[in-house]
Amino acid sequence: MISKRAQSVAPSETLKISAKAKELKRQGKSIISLSAGEPDFNTPEHVCDAAIKAIKEGFHGYTMNTGTPELRNAISNKLKRDNDLEYDPSQIICSNGAKQSLGFSMLALLDPEDEAIIPAPYWVSYPEMAKLAEAKPVTVRTSFESNYKMSPQQLEDAITERTKVLILCSPSNPTGACYSREELENLAEVLKKHPDIYIISDEIYEYIVFEDEHVGILQAAPELADRTLLINGFSKGFAMTGWRLGYMAGPKEVVDAVAKIQSQETSAPSSISQKAGEAAYTGDLTAVRYMRGQFKKRRDFIVSELDSINGLKCFKPSGAFYVFPDISQYLGKKTQKGREINSSTDLCMYLIEEQGLATVPGDAFGEPNGIRLSYASSMGELEEGMKRLKNGLADLE
Ligand code: PMP
Repeated sequence: MISKRAQSVAPSETLKISAKAKELKRQGKSIISLSAGEPDFNTPEHVCDAAIKAIKEGFHGYTMNTGTPELRNAISNKLKRDNDLEYDPSQIICSNGAKQSLGFSMLALLDPEDEAIIPAPYWVSYPEMAKLAEAKPVTVRTSFESNYKMSPQQLEDAITERTKVLILCSPSNPTGACYSREELENLAEVLKKHPDIYIISDEIYEYIVFEDEHVGILQAAPELADRTLLINGFSKGFAMTGWRLGYMAGPKEVVDAVAKIQSQETSAPSSISQKAGEAAYTGDLTAVRYMRGQFKKRRDFIVSELDSINGLKCFKPSGAFYVFPDISQYLGKKTQKGREINSSTDLCMYLIEEQGLATVPGDAFGEPNGIRLSYASSMGELEEGMKRLKNGLADLE
């Protein structure tokens, strides 16, 4: 019999859509996929070169469980350089991706019955990770009008005696929204009244911000450092999703607890990826800036296309590579063939099956009125994708 723990976890909805897209492609259908959560660029060359060098030089063994001293040093220097944060390398633990750091952080902090506050729409894995730690995810629904950002009042209302963790994700997957310094300062004011709550700050899209400098909770409220777990990684900014490299920086006692869990579950990430990560953080950031520039152009294109569709509402996201338009005006409608569209999942299934366009339903992210479109695709694909979206929506009445 499968454990109750495993049974309580939902399979990833985003993976379901990509499986559907793959199946339709195999049948020979033309599918435009705007559902991916990964950059469509290659990893920068100097990063690849460092990995090749490590392979050739025989850097093949296990490294320290928490990551090589060199990589943790490079991360510590990067946190100073880019984020004005002081972390001793002993306060940093490297992992097989930000996902692992998030999961192990929750295992290290949450007891059964504890509550984790998760603003919705959220990245799909947060509630399931809290459940795997046998804790209770408490989702806070935010509104389109606030660009899906949680207000201090909403945070205050969600806090109970059992609240142990608040998860923040800025820039956000799935909305691309970024909290401003002032908004974070206001959330911090609430958190200061509740000294037992830890903050898990997922800043994996840090390098993909278009208007202002990236601001995280610790730039807004440095005094929260002794209970903030900063999560980051190389997947998005350096187009390194497959290399599986991320990290957590935080208070020493939490890092040590995560290190214990990691030592029993996985050990350190790949030695080769760690050498690549070191090159990424010590090397030149031209490639990162180039990718950011491309994402910005695509964002501007996709937002202007969405704005031209009557009935869709969309704000201009300032980070990541997603847009999350409100599709509520289409719910309750039917296609010409009589297919009913009663949820964001119905809409996404219709779009993929009948228009050949893969997107992700807001239902998967805890926001039934939205759908997520990723613009980590070429301009040509985006143009074709927008055509298909317009056709598909025009067919609904
Ligand atoms: N957090 C967010 C918000 C993400 O979108 C992702 C990747 N989709 C991750 C964490 C995981 O990143 P990694 O590849 O480093 O595990």
